[in-house]
Amino acid sequence: MKKVYTLILALLCLVAVGCKQKQATKNSNMNYRPLGATGLEVSEISIGCGGFGKLDSAASLQLMTMALDSGMNYIDIYDADPKVRSNIGYALKGRRDEMIIQGHIGTIYKDGQHTRTRDVEETRKGFEDLLDRLGTDHIEVGMIHITDSQEEWDEIQDSPFLDYVFQLKKEGKIKHIGLSSHNAEVALQAAKSGWVEVIMFSLNPAFDQLRGGAIPWDKGAMDNLQGGIDPVRVEFYDYCATHKIGVTVMKTFGGGGKLLDAKTSPLGVAYTPEQCIAYCLAKPCISTCILGIDNLDELKADLHWLHATEAEKDYTNVAKRPDTQTAGDCTYCNHCSPCTQGIPIAKVNELLDKAEHDGMTAELQAQYDALPKHGGDCTHCGACMSRCPFGVDIPNRMDAAKAKFGK
Ligand code: SF4
Ligand code: SF4
Repeated sequence: MKKVYTLILALLCLVAVGCKQKQATKNSNMNYRPLGATGLEVSEISIGCGGFGKLDSAASLQLMTMALDSGMNYIDIYDADPKVRSNIGYALKGRRDEMIIQGHIGTIYKDGQHTRTRDVEETRKGFEDLLDRLGTDHIEVGMIHITDSQEEWDEIQDSPFLDYVFQLKKEGKIKHIGLSSHNAEVALQAAKSGWVEVIMFSLNPAFDQLRGGAIPWDKGAMDNLQGGIDPVRVEFYDYCATHKIGVTVMKTFGGGGKLLDAKTSPLGVAYTPEQCIAYCLAKPCISTCILGIDNLDELKADLHWLHATEAEKDYTNVAKRPDTQTAGDCTYCNHCSPCTQGIPIAKVNELLDKAEHDGMTAELQAQYDALPKHGGDCTHCGACMSRCPFGVDIPNRMDAAKAKFGK
């Protein structure tokens, strides 16, 4: 009998190893990194959820299939838009076990808009909707959605909201607790909290440099990656590396791809995707760069990372001391929603930026006209302002959109 048990155990071990290998060797060019101390190994580039709202279910399946087949095994789902969630659920059918899901807690879809909440009942509704639409009974990382100020961090301590997050972990509906933030002070406190295991943080060469700014930006600083950077950010990166807190990167390309175009780059010079990714991955604490991918062509372009040469990854060639600031530049992140008037603020800003940088076109005008509400509907109530992590003067941009597009 003992022999039979031993045999069964050995077989189970073989199956387990086989499954792990199947995931890890799917694309031999993809590197995998530990996600802090979670025990999970994640692909060093991974996929964001934004594109799935722009695709139908068949195109979503194509995108997910290519991502999985390329070795990507990590996805961030922050958006509460039912279409985004349902498309991802559809695309993951039959392959759920190949994807590690980082899903956000504290997001709901209300009055046709993605909305952040700390209300427990709303949070519960939003989280259960996420599981339902994904067709799963758990996600690996439950990410507390955007906590960007000291007040927001203080607000969740010892709160019913946090009790609910702990309850989700106890029930196994989330395996690990995460928190997303654009604020290094908050992110550092989260890392030191003892209960946050994964932090989603906005990182790219521009954000690192511009938040500090006092130390000259030069090749030496870029080489050691610890100079020319906001000291709080440096402390955060070091703490996470030392204490095995997983860090997943958002806004790898500057938010909306702004770093990839010299006209929009806050550094005044265009980076390539490979240079942005290499910059982030050079920090030992980083587990994965989550890339905003809208379609197959963008995914194919980003997958060049798997074959990129060291010369292509060398970002020191383009590093330049910034003359401009990112503050006030929209990254189309949607964190300012909901608008009291239902204006899709991120989309209005995106179309306005394109019209200003590349010139007005009939196509841009048509896209703007098709929006449910426009810049001209802004009442300057200011409700969105405190929710923008990037200091965008939103009412001013809404006025500019009205002037540019006529409504
Ligand atoms: S200031 Fe304008 S854009 Fe912002 S919430 Fe109010 S109406 Fe909406
Ligand atoms: S205005 Fe601010 S919060 Fe809103 S989409 Fe732009 S950067 Fe994000």
